[in-house]
Amino acid sequence: MTPRLRCTSCGNLTRFDVVRRTRTSAFHHYSTGGHLEVEDVVVLEDEVESITCRWCGPVGRVQEFEGDDGEDAAVVGAGPDGVAGGTVADA
Ligand SMILES: [Zn+2]
Repeated sequence: MTPRLRCTSCGNLTRFDVVRRTRTSAFHHYSTGGHLEVEDVVVLEDEVESITCRWCGPVGRVQEFEGDDGEDAAVVGAGPDGVAGGTVADA
């Protein structure tokens, strides 16, 4: 059950600008040559500050909905996945 986003203004399901503040703890494992591998990442805080529709900008109204990997009866007119958000019927 991955939460999904939808812009109710234009129907966009796939393109959003997300500003989030994430605080993590991680094990930084350097090789003797200086190559870094980041391991054991633990998310301590993860706060979404804003979500903006890529096409509408700030005027777009973005809402979250539960889109588990199967189809959801509440989603009308959109396929489970792979549906490009390009078909917008502008008035
Ligand atoms: Zn939009």
